[in-house]
Amino acid sequence: MARTTEEYIADRKRFMDKIISIYCRKNHGGDALCEECSELRDYAFMKIDKCGHNASKTRCKDCPGTCYSKEMHDRIDDVVEFSGPRMILHPILLLKDRY
Ligand SMILES: [Zn+2]
Repeated sequence: MARTTEEYIADRKRFMDKIISIYCRKNHGGDALCEECSELRDYAFMKIDKCGHNASKTRCKDCPGTCYSKEMHDRIDDVVEFSGPRMILHPILLLKDRY
């Protein structure tokens, strides 16, 4: 069953939230997101909202014109690299199309 664009956007945000939470907890300690990671999450959410490819469900990594700034792109890359393998604990999330 195909997801609606709204569900797709909510899904992408849930995924971002999850991987940034894992990354922050392991690297920065604490239960809540630190300031730096909150900023990164807000940035990612803002990009998801503004993404012109939500309707076609193009994933960020397949996107021909990445919209992240160089700095934010590097930071997200670190988060995905760190948290990606740990998402194995969340197999349901892995089955879907994400970042
Ligand atoms: Zn953090």
